[in-house]
Amino acid sequence: MLAMTVTDVRLGAAFASREAAIRGVGELLLESDAIEPEYIESMLARERLATTYLENGLAIPHGRRQDAGRIKQTHVAVVQIPAGVAWQDDKTAHLVFGIAARSNEHLGLLRQLNAIVADAALADRLAHTTDPAEILAAVCFPDDAGGDVAEADPDFAGSELELAFTNPRGVHLLSAGKFARAVQAYPGKVTLAVRRREIEAGSISSILALGITAGDAVRVRVSGDDETETLSCLAALMEEINNEPLEESRGGNTVSRWNPGQKSCSTLEGVTAAPGLAIAPVWKWEPVGLGDRQRARGDSDSEIATLRAAVSTARGQLLALAEASANPVQRGLLEAHAALVEDPAVKRESEAMIARGDDALCAWKTIIESRARRIAALDDVHFAQRAADIRDAGQRVQKILLGVDLDSMADVSGPVILVADDLEPSEAAQLKADKIKGICLKKGSPNAHGAIVSRSLGIPMLVALGAELDKLPPGEMVILDATGGRLLPRPGAADLQSATAAIAEDAVLRNFDWDHRFEPAILRDGHRVEVAANIGKTSEGHAVIDSGAEGVGLYRTEFLFFGRDQAPDEEEQYQALREIIEALHGLPMIVRTLDIGGDKPVSYLGLSMQDLSVLGLRGFRLSLACPDLAKAQLRAIFRAAEHGPIRLMFPMIATPNDFLRAREMTEKVRREVGGEKLALGVMIEVPSAVTMAPELAELADFFSIGTNDLTQYTLAVDRSHPLLARHGDSLHPAVLRLIRAAVQAAHDKGKWVGVCGGLAAEPLGALLLTGLGVDELSMPPAVVPQIKALLRREEIQQLRELARKALDQRDALAVRALRPGL
Ligand code: PEP
Ligand code: MG
Repeated sequence: MLAMTVTDVRLGAAFASREAAIRGVGELLLESDAIEPEYIESMLARERLATTYLENGLAIPHGRRQDAGRIKQTHVAVVQIPAGVAWQDDKTAHLVFGIAARSNEHLGLLRQLNAIVADAALADRLAHTTDPAEILAAVCFPDDAGGDVAEADPDFAGSELELAFTNPRGVHLLSAGKFARAVQAYPGKVTLAVRRREIEAGSISSILALGITAGDAVRVRVSGDDETETLSCLAALMEEINNEPLEESRGGNTVSRWNPGQKSCSTLEGVTAAPGLAIAPVWKWEPVGLGDRQRARGDSDSEIATLRAAVSTARGQLLALAEASANPVQRGLLEAHAALVEDPAVKRESEAMIARGDDALCAWKTIIESRARRIAALDDVHFAQRAADIRDAGQRVQKILLGVDLDSMADVSGPVILVADDLEPSEAAQLKADKIKGICLKKGSPNAHGAIVSRSLGIPMLVALGAELDKLPPGEMVILDATGGRLLPRPGAADLQSATAAIAEDAVLRNFDWDHRFEPAILRDGHRVEVAANIGKTSEGHAVIDSGAEGVGLYRTEFLFFGRDQAPDEEEQYQALREIIEALHGLPMIVRTLDIGGDKPVSYLGLSMQDLSVLGLRGFRLSLACPDLAKAQLRAIFRAAEHGPIRLMFPMIATPNDFLRAREMTEKVRREVGGEKLALGVMIEVPSAVTMAPELAELADFFSIGTNDLTQYTLAVDRSHPLLARHGDSLHPAVLRLIRAAVQAAHDKGKWVGVCGGLAAEPLGALLLTGLGVDELSMPPAVVPQIKALLRREEIQQLRELARKALDQRDALAVRALRPGL
């Protein structure tokens, strides 16, 4: 329960900057003994990631989720700044609510803040009141425990099953919709409990608000008739969601090499949301807005009946559209929107608002908005994007209530490039790839559902093109080079001809690459590169074989350790390893020992966030700190090696001494188990491992370069920082020079080198690494056919020359410019 008193309110404050205001409200939290001082830094860091400004002068700074350990008790404090403080862009904050929430107790407060957000007059009054009680009254909410999200019931008496969620995509909209609809068909009570929070599982918006992601332990709880049977069906469904592939399938073209003949100053630049090349005239899409339309209202009973009828119409429309769609992503999206409009929690809350005197439209809008904001506040940008889905599905009901015509893309007559401000998910769900050849948005995001649908349909798409897009007249012929991030208005005849040829050629190539995926990657002059696959789950054996990969170059064993209360024991690890090595039918597999820490923490080892930080007990350091854990894993690996060819490697080795200790521990375990000797490799992920590479090469059987971490530590760019991502480009010559040094050191000692970081999966990266002498490239199974085919079209001498040039460049952009379009 949130307890706010007048001492938590500071009136008449003045601050020179947003940072000072955050510190000011942080001081109030400190005074209440709610936080440790470090939490204030976390609040500042969170704000730098994404603004917490709401609307009408309200801001809600809070710390990052991973710093929740700095909170002593859940608490809220508020500073009132009558003159305002510049927050972001042109926004000025007058009421700054500092939130320190250990779990979800603050959600009720957020909901109530939405009432202030929706009422400019109230917000203005509170910004200038001299009575703290007025602010307290405005944010005091009868059920402050957080709406439908509650602490998980420790005394639950029904049937429950817990599963370790490992899918890095998390439970996204389509899966949440599938799960909620399955639950809605069951008359009993079903909840999901994650991270000590428990929600009603028939409510898709509540599932989304949980932000379930890899590493979570998800408990499915059922009580009522046929408990056991229902539980096993729902647990199987959650497992299916857990095993969903990471990437949407896609058709369309992947033209990557097209370049216009001459540069034009009218070329527009945007962010690639779906790659490909397209040529067609512009079609401008302008959906009807709601404006400030009003409707006549009736009494509470008739308002509830009107809302129910509108919801039922919206649901019917969405399911009919879903039925008519052949694309699984579009169908899933429309079905998820149907589940959103009939979300039982939204229904209950909006009907309660109507019963308290609101009309149907206002109640629906307020509840949808509060749910959307709750999701938008999640730290993960992919989850936060789902707020757009909630608003979009909600708008359909609003339009029905207001009698506004629903937009339809059915009228578009021929092949066009769709040009719009933004694309709502439900609009994207109606796209037809035979008519919409490409999409250009003024705003938009590569993580939005519009982009996800476009990728699944293979429709090239650019977002964030900006205001220049408005100047394009309807009907104008354009070339959309989404891979290259550009849109060319009024192209010349030569460009039109070359782009048309590139599209036709690509279709032929893609089929060819797939058909030849089982052939080795032998370059035109006979040089051979081994192409392997990276996996993290025991269920991926089939994908490895089907991709044409020649083995597993990296098995990330830590996935077995996520989403549970304790580490898996030796037997469980042995069974998992045996399952995957047997599924590979003789293909070799490189098993990497546990790489917990950094962006992959677990909670049950009793280690602090500092211990697990990127510079803390990551990788093999953790194995040294927890020898029992490491030994159990090594025992399991030696036992599994009896069932197929396994090599072993150690993550985050920084010095030769690290590797000696790893080798010593491994040898001891091998003798205990009585296992065969295995090839032992070093992961090269830290600059010091490169400077000591000659010594390491002496000791190790092979190197495997982890370019993701090597880039992070070389360029000092946090790999999971959303805003720094483009500065952490593995093609930077600083990284490439380290790779060259590592390869040389290994080859000097007759050892082979693989690369299992993301650079190996990038076309230009694969070429440069080959040119630098790398012997094996390991990547996600889905890209294996394309990279193999790309290599087969090259010659080693040319790639060596390309690599030599790349090493001489000043930055990653210049390296990319060596092979534009790749
Ligand atoms: C890497 O760092 O490049 C790597 C392959 O390891 P991970 O991404 O699992 O840290
Ligand atoms: Mg790594």
